[in-house]
Amino acid sequence: MRVFKFGGASVKDAEGIKNVYDVLQKVGYEDVLLVVSAMGKTTNALEVVIKDYFDKSSALQSSVQEVKKYHNQILLDLFEDDSNAVFTAVKAQFSDLDYFLAHNKSPNYDFVYDQVVSYGELISTTILAHFMNHMDIKTQWIDVRNFIKTDSNYRDATVDWDLTHKNISKNVKRKTLNITQGFLGSDENNFTTTLGREGSDYTAAIFAYCLNADSVTIWKDVPGVMNADPRYFENASLLNQISYREAIELAFYGATVIHPKTLQPLQRKEIPLYVKSFINPLLKGTSVSRGVNLEPYLPCFIVKRNQLLISLSSIDFSFIMEENISEIFSLFHEFKLKVNLIQNTAISFSVCVEDKFYNFNELNAILSKKFKVDYSQNVTLYTIRHFNDSAAQTVENGKKVILKQISTETMQIVTSEN
Ligand code: ADP
Ligand code: ASP
Ligand code: MG
Repeated sequence: MRVFKFGGASVKDAEGIKNVYDVLQKVGYEDVLLVVSAMGKTTNALEVVIKDYFDKSSALQSSVQEVKKYHNQILLDLFEDDSNAVFTAVKAQFSDLDYFLAHNKSPNYDFVYDQVVSYGELISTTILAHFMNHMDIKTQWIDVRNFIKTDSNYRDATVDWDLTHKNISKNVKRKTLNITQGFLGSDENNFTTTLGREGSDYTAAIFAYCLNADSVTIWKDVPGVMNADPRYFENASLLNQISYREAIELAFYGATVIHPKTLQPLQRKEIPLYVKSFINPLLKGTSVSRGVNLEPYLPCFIVKRNQLLISLSSIDFSFIMEENISEIFSLFHEFKLKVNLIQNTAISFSVCVEDKFYNFNELNAILSKKFKVDYSQNVTLYTIRHFNDSAAQTVENGKKVILKQISTETMQIVTSEN
């Protein structure tokens, strides 16, 4: 069996959905499981709905309406006949969403978040499955929440592998085209959970692992994994093959082309991962497998913007040692600041962090009681795997370098743009 994952960009409009059909025609669809994300930027649009809901904003009506209008337009573009059952099916899903927003009593933001954003994937897969049937491809629509079981850590749920493995290996039909939702799961009480933003790649890996699949293919708007994000680097080149280890390192340092959790389950069973273009599906793209050399051997660049560089030094010139460091780290954890780089000297300690939830001011107040705190906002963290002098120059050119760290294979540079 093969597992294919189609992300938001691949199904962002009617053309995208038709293209999925074309891709399947070209590469085959018997004995395939499709994992599909919400269409385009639907998850972001549903995040606005959730914000309006909690703010009790009068904009709630219109933010919901926007999501409905977007999907309705795609339906009208795909199906000439608006008596097609898909119109009723999608309407029913939106009615469920309306019902939830009108009757929910839970004040738990993360719980509400998962119940609401899940409609993105539920609706995209409904539309895609109906379109395939319309084009005479028989499909099996699967509600992923009956298969992937998780704990109740809403928005970042942990998979219960035993239960999930049992459900998937027993109940997924072979020799057909299965279509299911990425990113979602459900907890013990059957409430919807999600696996973290961009988690659909991970869903594909979970299914592949439990089905002992032959391969996973992630279909992208780029030719494959490149040695840099082509949005930021004009001369980015395609990597034909990389090892799991390399892919894990790239994803860990922030290459957004593969979700970091995706690689481990595949590596464990040595299931090959292909990253391919949904625009040119017959091109080879990137193959990720065990122990192969990076080919071509090139420096790989990863950029993380909007970072915060914090330097702590002791007020009394005492050393910053294990005890202090563990306290500092537990504070970062508590305030949900993600640490991307660490450097320490005898009396100072620097970290480059991401403050996604805007908690730094609060944390700073606590840290300042014990340490002298200096910080630079809005810095950029560059990571170069397999660096060389010219790669470093490319990054440093015209920028102010404020920190640099080198290990055998990896160079990290923090810059503030001039
Ligand atoms: P999906 O639709 O599957 O969610 P994403 O938009 O999350 O796809 O991922 C594809 C994007 O990842 C590309 O458009 C590209 O800009 C970005 N990207 C970041 N790093 C890389 C890389 N090293 N190689 C290729 N693409 C990359
Ligand atoms: N729709 C979810 C998101 O945008 C999951 C995914 O696309 O992978 O984060
Ligand atoms: Mg994505």
